[in-house]
Amino acid sequence: MYSGEIHVAVFNHVSFDEHEQVVFCHDKESGLKAIVAIHNTNLGPAVGGCRMWNYQSDDEALTDVLRLSRGMTYKNALAGLTMGGGKSVIIADPKRQDREALFRAFGRFINSLGGRYYSAEDVGTTTADIMIAHEETPYMAGLEGKSGDPSPFTALGTYLGIKAAVKHRLGLDSLKGLKIAVQGVGHVGYYLCKHLHNEGAELIVTDIHQASLDRVATDFGAIVVAPQEIYAQDVDVYAPCALGATLNDATLPQLKAKIVAGCANNQLAEVRHGEQLKEMGILYAPDYVINAGGIINVSFEKDYDAAKSTAKVEEIYNTLLKIFSQADAQNRTTGAVADEMAKAIIEAAKK
Ligand code: NAD
Repeated sequence: MYSGEIHVAVFNHVSFDEHEQVVFCHDKESGLKAIVAIHNTNLGPAVGGCRMWNYQSDDEALTDVLRLSRGMTYKNALAGLTMGGGKSVIIADPKRQDREALFRAFGRFINSLGGRYYSAEDVGTTTADIMIAHEETPYMAGLEGKSGDPSPFTALGTYLGIKAAVKHRLGLDSLKGLKIAVQGVGHVGYYLCKHLHNEGAELIVTDIHQASLDRVATDFGAIVVAPQEIYAQDVDVYAPCALGATLNDATLPQLKAKIVAGCANNQLAEVRHGEQLKEMGILYAPDYVINAGGIINVSFEKDYDAAKSTAKVEEIYNTLLKIFSQADAQNRTTGAVADEMAKAIIEAAKK
C-alpha cells in the first residue's frame, strides 16, 4: 500500500491554485525538459509565453510556471480578452546555441495539446525560436510578420497605468516635473522612458547593462544610479521594469515613492507585501493589470490592426482607476480588488 512517504508537490503546491492541467515534457533526442501549465480556459484557449531559464531545480521551474500561468488567467480576464491563462518553461541555458531541435520538440508537445494552449516569446526565448516551433504546430502566437514585438504596447499600457496612478494618488493629470525611478531599461523600459520623458517627467534609472543605460541617458537625459540605490530615490513613482519580487522585506522600508507602477511580472515577493504597501500609503498598480499591453497586442494577431490594438491597450487607464477607487472604498489592497474582479469575469464565462 502507498505509504505516503513521498510528497508530490504539484496538487498541493502552494501556487497550484486549481490549475486545470500541468504537463511535464521530456524529449531524449534534443534534451528538452519543459513544463506547460494551463491554469484556466473558461474564457478561451490558454495563452502565455514560453520562458527559457537556467532553473536550479525542477521545483524552481514548477513554481515559476504555476505563478506565471495563474497571472496570465487574471491578466487576460481583466484586459477583456477571450483567452484563458497558461505559460510554459524550458529548463535550459537561455543563451544555448543549438536551438532548432529543442524548439521543434517543444512545438510537437504544444501540438499534442490540440489548441488548449498557445505559446509565444518570453524571457529567454525569441521570435525566431517561436517560428521554429510554429513549423511543428499552429498553436504559437506573436509570430514574425504578424503582431510582432509586444514591448512598445506593454510600455504604452504601463505609461497610461502610471498616469492613472498619478491621477488617483496625486490628483494630477500630467507627469510634467514628476520624478520617476525606472528599474530596468530593456525592451519595455526604454519605450516607457520615452513616453515619460515626452511628457516632461524627470527620470532616474538603473540597469545592469551599461549600453542600455547610456542609451536612456543620452536620449532622455536620465540620471543613472547603481542597482541597489534605486529603491531609496526621493521620487514620486517607482517603476519596476526588470525582475520579479523586487517588492520585499529588504526593499519596502527604503521606498520614498508614493506610487509603485511598472511592467515587471510578479513584483510582490509575497501577497503580504501588497498589504504592507497599503499600510505605508503607497499606491500599487497590480502588475498583471498594468503590463497587459503586450498580450493585448498578441490577441489581435489574426487580421492584425495596430489601431484597434492601441485602443484596447488604452483601456488599462480606466481599469486601473476603477481598481484604485474600489480598493479605497472597501479599504482593501489593489491586488485583492483586481483578483476579485478577474475571478468574477472568469466565473461568469463558465456560466
Ligand atoms: P528585458 O530583458 O528587455 O529588460 C529587462 C532589463 O532589466 C534588462 O535591461 C536587464 O539588464 C535589466 N536588469 C536585470 N536585472 C537587473 C537588476 N538586478 N537591476 C536592474 N536592472 C536589471 O525585458 P523586457 O521585455 O523589457 O521585460 C521587462 C519586465 O517586464 C520583465 O519582468 C517581463 O517579464 C515584464 N513584461 C514584459 C512584457 C513585454 O512585452 N516584453 C510584457 C509583460 C511583462
